[in-house]
Amino acid sequence: MLKMKRTCQRCETALGWRDATRICSFECTFCPDCAAAMDQVCPNCAGQLVPRPTRERAPLPVAAGLIRRRLGLGGHKAQR
Ligand SMILES: [Zn+2]
Ligand SMILES: [Zn+2]
Repeated sequence: MLKMKRTCQRCETALGWRDATRICSFECTFCPDCAAAMDQVCPNCAGQLVPRPTRERAPLPVAAGLIRRRLGLGGHKAQR
């Protein structure tokens, strides 16, 4: 999972999950203004800066619970 850094590493502008943000493959994180000023090239690793996918919310821990419940209900042999 992306660590989703919360600030631009160049100007320290706060960057929300839904804000337009640029990252490199090492997850160096910059605001669009700084990325444009640097020609979309990461100053730390010289990598290409690309738009970061936005995120609406944190993942819910539902999947694990559902799987566990299904496994429990699926145990017909034990429920006789
Ligand atoms: Zn910036
Ligand atoms: Zn980088």
